[in-house]
Amino acid sequence: MSQRVLVLGAGFAGLSAATSLADQGYDVTILEKNSMPGGRARLFQAEGYTFDMGPSWYWMPDVFDTYFARFGKRTADYYKLVRLDPSYKVVFGPDEAVDLPAGLPNLEALFEQFEPGSGPRLREFLSQASYKYKVGMQNFVWKPSRSVTEFLSLKLLYDVTRLDVFQSFAVHARKFFSHPRLLEIVEFPVLFLGATPENTPAMYSLMNYAEMALGTWYPMGGMHEIVKAMVSLAEEKGVKILLNQTVRKIDIINGLAKRVVTDQGIFETDVVVAGTDYNHVETTLVDPAYRNYDDAYWQKRVMAPSSLLFYLGVSKRIPKLEHHNLFFDEDFKQHAHEIYENPQWPSKPLFYASAPSKTDPSVAPAGCENLFLLIPVAPDLTDDEATRAHYFEMIMDRLEAYVGEDIRNYIVYKRSYAHSDFKSDYNAFRGNAYGLANTLKQTALLKPSLKNKRVNNLFYTGQLTVPGPGVPPSLISGLVVANEVAKEFS
Ligand SMILES: Cc1cc2nc3c(=O)[nH]c(=O)nc-3n(C[C@H](O)[C@H](O)[C@H](O)COP(=O)(O)OP(=O)(O)OC[C@H]3O[C@@H](n4cnc5c(N)ncnc54)[C@H](O)[C@@H]3O)c2cc1C
Repeated sequence: MSQRVLVLGAGFAGLSAATSLADQGYDVTILEKNSMPGGRARLFQAEGYTFDMGPSWYWMPDVFDTYFARFGKRTADYYKLVRLDPSYKVVFGPDEAVDLPAGLPNLEALFEQFEPGSGPRLREFLSQASYKYKVGMQNFVWKPSRSVTEFLSLKLLYDVTRLDVFQSFAVHARKFFSHPRLLEIVEFPVLFLGATPENTPAMYSLMNYAEMALGTWYPMGGMHEIVKAMVSLAEEKGVKILLNQTVRKIDIINGLAKRVVTDQGIFETDVVVAGTDYNHVETTLVDPAYRNYDDAYWQKRVMAPSSLLFYLGVSKRIPKLEHHNLFFDEDFKQHAHEIYENPQWPSKPLFYASAPSKTDPSVAPAGCENLFLLIPVAPDLTDDEATRAHYFEMIMDRLEAYVGEDIRNYIVYKRSYAHSDFKSDYNAFRGNAYGLANTLKQTALLKPSLKNKRVNNLFYTGQLTVPGPGVPPSLISGLVVANEVAKEFS
């Protein structure tokens, strides 16, 4: 008889772990609390619009290709990818914006316009970033990070010295560029990692390589197409996905997780892989004696920002927007201070506007625009209706000032989403959106471990453990944990 594995949560990490284990012969069942798989990448439909609820940037296409290739498939077997050009727009003010072109020659030319000599420097910056990307993606992200010995090889130590682990991204970027606009452009991808450029290791210029060289892509139909593809592959491999199953308890007997209790029933098992929010497992699903980390540990974790989101159906086209639009029209330092150092609702936040209907007619009725607005905010804030309404008006003022036309009167559908929704939908620790920040002190061995120290058959996967937040790392996290399970429970 095959060993039974229960995977908790059908996010990217849970789906990835489940598929890999089923492919290796395990009898795998996923228990998911929501009525749809995908976790933070679910979708909903309203008034003829289809909204991706979370991720909107498809970066690192090689990771998705590697994922499907592992199971003898191609990404193209499931969805059609298009490369966006421009990759995105940066709005610096009502009358100043720049479109970032796809392709390095055009990017270099753009950089030259801001700062003579910066084109060749961009080439050098990206050549170093390419090295970091290759070493990072070939070596480091695949490490389960359970022991320091994993990192004790001469080759790896040599690589570490070239990865700029101990220099800050902000210092590194200033060695190449001095124009404030160029600095904002190169520092933007680092914000995905959930920390300021000053607190992010320069190693993460690999994100610039991912963004500028590998490109920004979009799966036609929306980001949820990735989830559909993964579900189809998982089911082909024999994974059973049970929806509307809220896990209440992991029963541990003699140091082993024996049963998982949901609001619908009791499931016996040989192994548990928790793809649910790590802190939720620790504080709610296992008895305190079996926690890996106490409350003091969790309180000291630096979380990536949460988000205040607005999903809008707009009954007209908005010509001045691109698919991805970053509103860098306020002071980032002030906003970062109000996220990280003095957490509070921001006074003048930057925000991001996505209009996937620019690329994909299927996500909005003809002649209409599908808008997704995201304000990064500190975790753990109170998000009442009045606060949401205040920020909505604030960013609509700036959006309308830039596009030069009325949007508010054309909104035919509106929904907001913030901390309390992340908590109720995903049991998200402190209402986090993208997990733990990728600071130096929260990298590799210093992240929450992917295995329980006291329960030999309880593993963790997802954006709060290795390698970190984001869709590609979550996919990798599932594969990494599946390897660990297979090593110990073959
Ligand atoms: C607004 C937003 C924008 C983002 N933008 C991007 C982007 O552009 N590009 C990118 O790469 N990444 C982006 N991310 C990050 C990315 O979406 C996440 O890192 C990734 O989806 C996390 O996957 P996961 O499997 O670790 O967790 P989740 O997706 O949270 O999956 C966990 C699953 O566990 C389930 N669960 C929780 N508790 C229980 C329980 N008790 N019982 C059963 N099931 C339970 C949840 O319902 C959920 O389905 C974004 C995230 C957000 C929120």
